[in-house]
Amino acid sequence: MIVPEFDYLTPQTLNEACALLGEYGSRAKVLAGGSDLVVKMKNGLLKPDYIVSLKNLQDLKGIRYEAGTGVIIGARTTHNRVVENEILRERFPSVSAAAGTMAAYQVRNIGTIGGNLVNAVPSADMPPILIALSAKARIVGLSGERLVDLEEFFLGPGKTVLNQDEILAEIIIPDQATTGSSYIKFGLRRAGSLAVAGVASSVMMDGEMAEDVRIVLGAVAPTPLRAREAEAVLRGKKVSQELIEQAGKIAAAESKPITDIRGSAEYRRHLVDVLTRRTLKTAIEKGHV
Ligand SMILES: Cc1cc2nc3c(=O)[nH]c(=O)nc-3n(C[C@H](O)[C@H](O)[C@H](O)COP(=O)(O)OP(=O)(O)OC[C@H]3O[C@@H](n4cnc5c(N)ncnc54)[C@H](O)[C@@H]3O)c2cc1C
Repeated sequence: MIVPEFDYLTPQTLNEACALLGEYGSRAKVLAGGSDLVVKMKNGLLKPDYIVSLKNLQDLKGIRYEAGTGVIIGARTTHNRVVENEILRERFPSVSAAAGTMAAYQVRNIGTIGGNLVNAVPSADMPPILIALSAKARIVGLSGERLVDLEEFFLGPGKTVLNQDEILAEIIIPDQATTGSSYIKFGLRRAGSLAVAGVASSVMMDGEMAEDVRIVLGAVAPTPLRAREAEAVLRGKKVSQELIEQAGKIAAAESKPITDIRGSAEYRRHLVDVLTRRTLKTAIEKGHV
């Protein structure tokens, strides 16, 4: 299908981009890698009059570490950069690994981490692991900037807290005492398929004691979901196989899956049980993978 006509705008600064978004309102759309936006335009699902490309905003690209803050990932960073980046591989390899589960190499070469989050698709792979690591979104708009916990970023399928004039600039994974984290996605093919369910867990272990636990479920609710009751099963306790199994069952009960073409609600609940147990075990035993 042919993409409908639009004006292509290439702001040189973030402020200029926000001003354009503010001026044109719902008639404008941000373009990062275009792996989702262009497909929607080709399929006639979106017909923006203005495309505001982020391609000249070099500050939104790249990954750096700032002591006292953490790892900062520019929203325009592609998935392949997240997979290959040494800082992430050393500090949070579970994030690199999650990016590596997505799509095919070619799509990972154009798709960005920011686009993956703003898209707010329930099955997206990056939100669960980033939320499990308490990541924050740095959002810039006409009235300034704000930091939002990624856990609060998603409002529903395709909906985020971003206002019309706002751009997701960076994702910050804060320095933390987390000792291990893991994301496992179950797709219908071994590679390149969307998650039927995905679970991320992070733990802060002190010997055999789980001082803190975060479990985040993907593709089983309208937004990524913290399994807080399952977390409470382990938090402050000496870890045992029995408690891990209990946490898996409770996480499954907390999930709110639907039945669709990729799997039934019942099957998804079963997957949440299995993946919660596996990610917890990995995070506890092996650290970040
Ligand atoms: C074949 C294929 C396979 C895929 N497989 C997977 C998969 O396995 N797992 C998965 O999670 N996803 C998958 N995706 C979805 C998609 O590739 C990713 O979500 C990708 O990260 C989107 O990034 P992008 O830069 O291409 O976004 P774009 O298409 O450029 O933008 C997506 C949306 O986000 C907005 N946007 C982008 N960046 C910003 C920003 N910085 N600030 C404000 N708004 C912004 C755009 O306006 C648009 O609404 C797949 C897509 C394709 C085509």
